[in-house]
Amino acid sequence: MYNLILFGPPGCGKGTQSDKLVEKYGLVHLSTGNLLRQEIKDKTPLGLEAKNFIDKGQLVPDEVVIGMVDSYFDQHKDAKGFLFDGFPRTVAQAKALDKLMELKKTEIGKVLVLDVNEEELIKRLVLRGKTSGRSDDADENIQRNRQEVYKKETLPVAAYYSKSGKVAKVDGMGSISEIFDRLSFHIDKKIK
Ligand code: AMP
Repeated sequence: MYNLILFGPPGCGKGTQSDKLVEKYGLVHLSTGNLLRQEIKDKTPLGLEAKNFIDKGQLVPDEVVIGMVDSYFDQHKDAKGFLFDGFPRTVAQAKALDKLMELKKTEIGKVLVLDVNEEELIKRLVLRGKTSGRSDDADENIQRNRQEVYKKETLPVAAYYSKSGKVAKVDGMGSISEIFDRLSFHIDKKIK
């Protein structure tokens, strides 16, 4: 099993690149954002709870997200590997993922960090907000809040993994295919 974490701030291109990476490497895409949006669409109790946080640009509580990841993992027992997108977003989530990996006798192969400057991120999110229909994309204040939450709660996750020697920082500026090639380079190096 080969598991990969795609890491970076809101608007860095994780979703776009994940779609291409899962296709190329045959991984199962585990996007907690997508799973939460599906729960909201299905009007489940979990979705209704999560919506309150998402609409404010805040993180959904760890136990909710971790429970969701555990059950998604169990639903995909035959997966040859997972691409984690938007998870883990806190150190508590990273520790829970470590436990899950241990339990399943597998590990994280690589943590790829997409690096994009903040003004470019806001620009991309404003543009995305025009078509995505996402409530948390629609307002620039919420977007700025999401960047702050990222710095405060999610950046420490990169430090958490840096000790493992699995982290690679990837320039997230440029065209979609340029960035994809940079990401693929790191994965191919690891797989070969
Ligand atoms: P994303 O699609 O990854 O940008 O996520 C959209 C929103 O869903 C985030 O701003 C959070 O409110 C929530 N969310 C997604 N993934 C997580 C996570 N791993 N932990 C907590 N909240 C999350």
